[in-house]
Amino acid sequence: GSVLVWFRRDFRFQDHIALSEALSYCQKNESELVFVFQLNRRFFQESENGLRQQYFMATVKDFGERCRKLGTELLIVEGDTEKAFQQVLKEHDDAEAVFFNLDEAGYGKERDQKMREWFEDREIRVHSFQDAYIHGPNEVLKKDGSIYKVFSPYYKAWKQIDKPVIKKLSFDELGKYVRKTKQISKSAASEIEKLSGGSKSMDWEIGEKAARSQLKTFIEQGLENYPDGRNIPSEKGTSLMSRYLKTGTISPRTVYTAVAQTDGDESSKEAYIRELAFRDFYQMIYASHPKTKDQEFLEAYRSLQWNQDERMLQAWKEGKTGYPIVDAGMRQLNHEGWMHNRLRMITASFLTKDLMIDWRLGEEYFASKLVDYDPGSNIGGWQWAASVGTDAVPYFRVFNPVTQSKRFDKDGNYIRKYVSELKDVSPLYIHEPWKMPQEEQREISCMIGKDYPAPAVDHQEQRKKAIDLFKNDK
Ligand code: FAD
Repeated sequence: GSVLVWFRRDFRFQDHIALSEALSYCQKNESELVFVFQLNRRFFQESENGLRQQYFMATVKDFGERCRKLGTELLIVEGDTEKAFQQVLKEHDDAEAVFFNLDEAGYGKERDQKMREWFEDREIRVHSFQDAYIHGPNEVLKKDGSIYKVFSPYYKAWKQIDKPVIKKLSFDELGKYVRKTKQISKSAASEIEKLSGGSKSMDWEIGEKAARSQLKTFIEQGLENYPDGRNIPSEKGTSLMSRYLKTGTISPRTVYTAVAQTDGDESSKEAYIRELAFRDFYQMIYASHPKTKDQEFLEAYRSLQWNQDERMLQAWKEGKTGYPIVDAGMRQLNHEGWMHNRLRMITASFLTKDLMIDWRLGEEYFASKLVDYDPGSNIGGWQWAASVGTDAVPYFRVFNPVTQSKRFDKDGNYIRKYVSELKDVSPLYIHEPWKMPQEEQREISCMIGKDYPAPAVDHQEQRKKAIDLFKNDK
């Protein structure tokens, strides 16, 4: 018989729980492995410029090529999930079991529940696993079985739980059990090619090998200085693992284990591992409170009167607010599909506090652009910045974009990289170009208000208004 392995956001061979379990099953039962990917456009409705989609599909394509080297095809089926699997079963009517890594939140969770019944109705046994997080949403609970709503006690409990061990897989052994197949639908397969941007090169590396090599580079070069380096956006101070974790070209256990087992400064390792735990925490909050996609976690702030100013929103999206650090962040997002964490905090704070625009609009915009888009982390990050989520920044502590800029981009290198209009501005004015004397503006051909926008709002005024907005709501 055959065994289906349904890949979703886990395009790797190493430390893939569903895959290694499926292989053990085949070794015991003399069955053959059939690999499947369902092209489900529902996940990309919000995509605008397509970078997010392109990165994801390029990963799928790369994985398909690796499957071919193994002697099989990653079967691509398109459309409604049930219909897609009907096509698979038509070709592989001896399927006796299906293995996949679970989605435990949002639409994916509903789909998995529905498909479990659908397979069982056809006498296909379902084997599903928590694989995408170090500890899944149901694994770190209080003694009474309820969830933690604050990160620090969650993290204390998280640390005390034994960490799952990595599952190594032999490529040769896997090769013995894969079924020699042909694509079912040529058009679905060529859709992947098209959506991945074809041969057009991407700025970012993709795939399992790239993920591992980036992890190695980070451990060798970035980990030691991570607690400070992670705050300096002009430096490569962070691991850049998020896009690989998102597409599952590396497992979170592999990242965790590699860092935990490295010799080196314990506090640096701890600082990094804490962020991996944050990923689990936000996923747990989202899984247990799915409404937080549209609704404030904190009940007290559900009726805040956010602004809906289209023009300001547009300026923010395009990186034309007149605050260089904010604009640099937004332009990095638009160009690269990724933004440094410090900038995610600064730009989110600017949208929600300085412009007082609804955090949902910001969350949505990030969702449409980020190659590492993860609903749990994105919603968590936005609600944090807007002071309406778990552990949120208190509403009266408003980020000052100029102070942030001076502190984390001292020489303005990050700003100059992304805001080309300001490339000749001296370090004296790079954080506040509106203070530059007219004469100097003329000299470097950067007239504020013409070549680069004047500040969209006055930070000090807006800060007071934002604090009032929250105060009056209480
Ligand atoms: P590193 O600093 O190297 O961190 C390592 C890993 O830890 C990351 O890959 C990520 O998986 C995890 N991590 C780090 N910081 C956080 C955090 N604050 N919350 C949750 N997990 C974290 N991260 C996403 O993966 N997807 C998102 O859609 C997303 N949206 C965000 C929105 C806002 C407003 C904010 C403030 C943060 C958001 N983050 C999101 C978290 C964080 O900015 C990114 O995970 C990080 O920038 C990714 O780069 P890195 O892999 O180099 O991070």
